Amino acid sequence: MQILDGKLVSAAVKAQLADKVTELKALDKKVPHLAAILVGNNPASETYVASKVKSCAEIGFHSTLLRFDEKISEKHLLDNITLLNENADIDGILVQLPLPKHINEELVINAIDPSKDVDGFHPMNVGKMVIGLPTYIPATPYGIMLMLEHYNIPTKGKHAVVIGRSNIVGTPMSVLLSRNANPGNCTVTLTHSQTANLKELCLQADIIVAAIGRPNFVTADMVKEGAVVIDVGINRIEDASKKSGFRLVGDVDFNAVAPKTSFITPVPGGVGLMTIAALLKNTYNAASQKVNMN
Ligand code: NAD
Repeated sequence: MQILDGKLVSAAVKAQLADKVTELKALDKKVPHLAAILVGNNPASETYVASKVKSCAEIGFHSTLLRFDEKISEKHLLDNITLLNENADIDGILVQLPLPKHINEELVINAIDPSKDVDGFHPMNVGKMVIGLPTYIPATPYGIMLMLEHYNIPTKGKHAVVIGRSNIVGTPMSVLLSRNANPGNCTVTLTHSQTANLKELCLQADIIVAAIGRPNFVTADMVKEGAVVIDVGINRIEDASKKSGFRLVGDVDFNAVAPKTSFITPVPGGVGLMTIAALLKNTYNAASQKVNMN
């Protein structure tokens, strides 16, 4: 069993991007600039946004964090997105999800200029991804693909079972793994809460991607010997021994499953770090398109 080390791979991606920033600066060109919008005080969202802003600083990107009270009106939020769309200094825009219930997430995502949609959630970018055109790929699936590529994990002709069909993880992951590309070229089974025979399907999988949001959902009896297991889940469970009162676990029962696998991602230290690295890559690409157009 080998750990797919998100710390190591994301550091490599970030180092490449930092080198590119150095080159841009040497040419007196503008460095990539990410704008992040955070609404309310969801503790998990606060942590994710803080990591994204910190990572920008580490590699020399500019970032702007716009924080709004959770009672912000939908209109005020949309107006702010319009301002960011029109601001030529901003290359990438991300709106941290989930948003408060009174705000229509779909409207907000659709309001982002697709050329600045570095989360890859805009329908235009999703459509491009599905037919294999160059676009911004949603950061979590993109990060997983970078990880598979880094470790040269064989995917051609393999059976991948993706658990979870969300728009941000499971569905795009199933598309990317099935594409005629490397990594890719898998036969993909996309499973979800209504799947009747999940355990049997998982037992046939060469690659399992778990994106459910339920602690330790994937157990050892669901995994065949030698499978590759990618754990996307980030779940907080109570832990009195921690100062915070909780610890993070994935969707996979890591201790029991890991010995059966050929490769496995840990939580934390796996997919989460790759998500940030992929977001930074998308932001760099957004900025360099503008540079090319000048
Ligand atoms: P979601 O709630 O939108 O989707 C969960 C999916 O799991 C649904 O499609 C549902 O059909 C499926 N599901 C629920 N119960 C099931 C069952 N019993 N059997 C099979 N499928 C079932 O969640 P999401 O946004 O895709 O996130 C999933 C997990 O990944 C969460 O823990 C989230 O925090 C985490 N996440 C991590 C990252 C990262 O960077 N590592 C990024 C996004 C999400």
